[in-house]
Amino acid sequence: MTPKEFARRRRQLMRMMGPDSVAILPTAPECIRNRDVEFPFRPDSDFYYLTGFHEPEAVMVLAPGREHGEFILFCRERDPVRETWTGRRVGPGGACNDYGADDAFPIGDIDDILPGLMEGRERVFYTMGLRGDFDQRMLGWLNRIRAGSRGGERTPDEFIALEHLVHDMRLYKSASELRTMRRAAKIAASAHVRAMQATRPGLMEYAVEAEFAHAFRREGCEHAYSPIVGGGANACILHYTENNARLNDGELLLIDAGAEHDYYASDITRTFPVGGRFSKAQRALYELVLDAQYAAIEEVRPGNHWNDPHDAAVKVLTKGLVQLGILKGNVRKLIKDEAYKRFYMHRTGHWLGMDVHDVGDYKVGGEWRVLEKGMVMTVEPGLYIPAGTKGVAKKWWDIGIRIEDDVAVTKDGYEILSTGAPKAVDEIEAIVGSG
Ligand code: ZN
Ligand code: MG
Repeated sequence: MTPKEFARRRRQLMRMMGPDSVAILPTAPECIRNRDVEFPFRPDSDFYYLTGFHEPEAVMVLAPGREHGEFILFCRERDPVRETWTGRRVGPGGACNDYGADDAFPIGDIDDILPGLMEGRERVFYTMGLRGDFDQRMLGWLNRIRAGSRGGERTPDEFIALEHLVHDMRLYKSASELRTMRRAAKIAASAHVRAMQATRPGLMEYAVEAEFAHAFRREGCEHAYSPIVGGGANACILHYTENNARLNDGELLLIDAGAEHDYYASDITRTFPVGGRFSKAQRALYELVLDAQYAAIEEVRPGNHWNDPHDAAVKVLTKGLVQLGILKGNVRKLIKDEAYKRFYMHRTGHWLGMDVHDVGDYKVGGEWRVLEKGMVMTVEPGLYIPAGTKGVAKKWWDIGIRIEDDVAVTKDGYEILSTGAPKAVDEIEAIVGSG
């Protein structure tokens, strides 16, 4: 992402905020993993989206029309001793020179400076309730302005959640965002290929997971979320992340893993036989899920509604489950009664972007959102039949299948970003265990 793109986003946001307003946005806090060990720092997505600034302990302020500059950044000061221990810092000087800040201050001075930036403005765009500690500081600054306002300066009297505006912006991906997401999906897709090639009976789930670590880190990527690598019965646990069981011949392996590249996520699921050959029952269910996914993807186009891909998937799955004798009854009635939910209990997708379950409303005015160019979503139908499922023949037990791709809405249809990972039965059977 170029500095120009970040500047464009800030301008767009300030246009929407209007004059006499100010936006305040802290980045994410650093998180302790255990004792004095921290998790790797990841900036808040909204904060990074607007600043391109990746250091912890930073706060962005946008003050439209401010004489000394509209984009103000508070960040850590340069400190040779601290930098020797914990790494380089950009510092306020670097924030101006390299990140386009009009004005930058040490984060330690925020109590002295920030109230003055709010003073005299009507509206404050700030999202309450995400960070209790920062909410408290905001209240303190406001009280100070109020206490000092007898001189005639007005205290802001309108608070608006900043995230409404920013999240709607983030829902529409620009050309360079789509380029970044294409790359994230490509890296993840080739990691899935690696994992398929490496899989054979007797391996541990985490040994297959290691293929993703290798494929992602060599491209400078992180996992966009905790990967799911579940064989057999574990494939039927939707958020299984232990990844510590042995893989057996005859089982299916479900892998849900995506790369984060330049702070943009990919999210891909593939399901394939550990031993390289689908059983008849596995193949029947797999092809049903694949048909449902194709049908759902065909519904991705401008003008359709968010729910159309889901409805298409449900229709195909329910019909197929009746044909296989797993559901019994009239297809339309089974759909109406949501009978499929015993085997397909999640939705067919979610928005995808800087966050894997990305921001953006799914409904507008009570109606499913209309799809528009630049929106990116996952399409991920599945079927899960754990052992012991009542009224379902044993041959279907312990089969868990999900097929997930990343799909962008284009001018007149869709673009699949994650095409590099095979999903047709013959392609999969040719590749599994071949590495
Ligand atoms: Zn997903
Ligand atoms: Mg996923």
